[in-house]
Amino acid sequence: MTIPKSYPYEAPQSQSLFDRASVVTPGGVNSPVRAFRAVGGTPRFMVSGTGPYLTDADGREYVDLVCSWGPMILGHAHPAVIEAVQQAVSRGTSFGTPGEGEVLLGEEIVSRVAPVEQVRLVSSGTEATMSAIRLARGFTGRAKIIKFAGCYHGHVDALLVAAGSGVATFGLPDTPGVTGAQAGDTIVLPYNDLDAVEAAFAANPGQIACVITEASPGNMGVVPPLPGFNKGLSELCRDNGALFISDEVMTGFRTSKSGWYGVEAAVEGWAPDLLTFGKVMGGGFPAAAFGGRADVMAYLAPAGPVYQAGTLSGNPIATAAGLAQLQHCTDEVYEKVDMVAAEISALVSLELTKEGVAHRLQNASNMFSVFFTDQAVTNYDEAKQQESFRFTAFFQSMLAQGVYLPPSAFESWFVSAAHDERAIEWIAAALPAAARAAAEARPA
Ligand SMILES: *Cc1c(COP(=O)(O)O)cnc(C)c1O
Repeated sequence: MTIPKSYPYEAPQSQSLFDRASVVTPGGVNSPVRAFRAVGGTPRFMVSGTGPYLTDADGREYVDLVCSWGPMILGHAHPAVIEAVQQAVSRGTSFGTPGEGEVLLGEEIVSRVAPVEQVRLVSSGTEATMSAIRLARGFTGRAKIIKFAGCYHGHVDALLVAAGSGVATFGLPDTPGVTGAQAGDTIVLPYNDLDAVEAAFAANPGQIACVITEASPGNMGVVPPLPGFNKGLSELCRDNGALFISDEVMTGFRTSKSGWYGVEAAVEGWAPDLLTFGKVMGGGFPAAAFGGRADVMAYLAPAGPVYQAGTLSGNPIATAAGLAQLQHCTDEVYEKVDMVAAEISALVSLELTKEGVAHRLQNASNMFSVFFTDQAVTNYDEAKQQESFRFTAFFQSMLAQGVYLPPSAFESWFVSAAHDERAIEWIAAALPAAARAAAEARPA
């Protein structure tokens, strides 16, 4: 292996595809953060992936630290997932009827996450949180909801207020197209601040349907809950007749076999009322879910009055891929992913320290990210204080050396069980130059 690589800044084939894409699609991408606007340069059009590696349209190979923003926990093109998909696809692609795959995937989810007594399958994390909020409002007969600044729950109108992910990347204060009526019942509070939640409940007696939070936020960079924060939220919800929705779209089946629930709530002996899932459970296909207490889920149509539906919900290819992936997410896989994440984090921190770059490596089990600041980051305001221009320089150097990072300083990095010695050596070889670039960077 020749490491580190040194790819030219220009990527002609990707650029040509991006030019064509920009004609037919706004901004040339189908999801904003893919566009490299925060870091500059040509977004890489990927043509294939195997294990921890991606190959782009110019034939360049990269070590992937995005993993499709979380889903590819077994690495790209895992043989068991590909096999399950090929078998499923040979039987037809969609029937619009119930099918066995939905039962099997539902049973797998219910068996892994104790508070999920019943689950409903949907096609995206956005749909999962949107439906969970509707269900919470229908169940409680209340309108208001509490969310936290910097938490991203998909592009649901009522939740696109002070959201993380692309909204954080582009520093959008609000999104045109979301009306006052749609967002007016949303109360946005600082993350990790239980006093603020208590005050909001006191100021809105009997009016708050639910609190929704990322189980452990990864959409403003990785900002784990302070000890007792989630438990405190669940107690405040219980005491005030509201539901606690833990958004595990990112953390679910990634941070442990039973997601962040298994890391925190199961250990502390409490449970969210509703949970949302996506990403890993779809095996790289559009499959997501929400579930929880049976008495709450019983409010969903056709069992109950709250309507929710989907033409492709529980799609046979997506459920086959998701089931195959979850069945291969064994204890050994989580041990491996945790180890890889710890190893890469340590390498990053070591090189940045050598170059005297102020930084904080933050993690929530195997999700991690770097903040270019010397202060611990516990909420969105603190996350925004970091020197993101250093990330831009760091990102570009890593990219030129064939390491593909999330193109934003406000996103989690993701690894897989397929990240092998070669991948880690490759990253280690690229880090000194990237750390130097971060040290030498100046604000734009
Ligand atoms: C990715 C994400 C979503 C949205 O899921 P999509 O499938 O992109 O709609 C919601 N919540 C969290 C915490 C996420 O990370």
